[in-house]
Amino acid sequence: MARIVFLGPPGAGKGTQAAEIARTAGWAHLSTGDLLRAAVRAGTPLGREADGYMRQGLLVPDDLVLRILKERLAEADARSGFILDGYPRNPAQARTLEAITPIDHVVYFEIPPGVLVERLTQRRHCPSCGRIYNLATLPPKRPGVCDVEGATLLQRTDDRPEAVTTRLAAYRDQTAPLLDHYRALGLLRTVDAAGTPEEVTRRVRAAVGLAAAPREPL
Ligand code: AMP
Repeated sequence: MARIVFLGPPGAGKGTQAAEIARTAGWAHLSTGDLLRAAVRAGTPLGREADGYMRQGLLVPDDLVLRILKERLAEADARSGFILDGYPRNPAQARTLEAITPIDHVVYFEIPPGVLVERLTQRRHCPSCGRIYNLATLPPKRPGVCDVEGATLLQRTDDRPEAVTTRLAAYRDQTAPLLDHYRALGLLRTVDAAGTPEEVTRRVRAAVGLAAAPREPL
């Protein structure tokens, strides 16, 4: 059982690592970005309200995000442990989270800011299985097509250059101040997020006290 927060700028690889580590450790992967995108696709009132903020790369108002987060945290699989990917993103959200649940580790994905724009604008995902690719560092075997599903890969609307600049500014101004907060609480585990996905997985696992992942059969 572990309750973990992944903190770091957009494009640092939090989502890729959260999916992999949650899967192998048997924890829930709680991505507020994924939950919001699902609400937008479903056309719920909350999704319609969140959509405009997300398109521009702005943070969605705290009360909307908290509503979907609470619903997801109440689901059964979160009881065996969870990775929060993308929450909290400002000091008010950090205070709210502390009132809801204790946290064991905050993993900070440290990465030189210069590589983020490239990583974000090269990112593609499979609309069917959610797998994330990068045209430069983690390309699909066949151009434009998911290795697993065969579906045509898509680009997130907020991975286009206009929104990327706003998202990086939101991170710098509103989210980065949380680093000092969690450092002072003794919860911050800093991980070098530059490197191959496998290297970063090993570092994150070590940072949260997980043994090396068992090798999967080829
Ligand atoms: P992500 O997938 O984590 O990059 O999130 C995509 C977008 O969803 C962000 O740019 C925000 O517009 C919104 N979002 C996700 N998580 C939060 C949060 N904790 N607070 C406010 N907005 C969020």
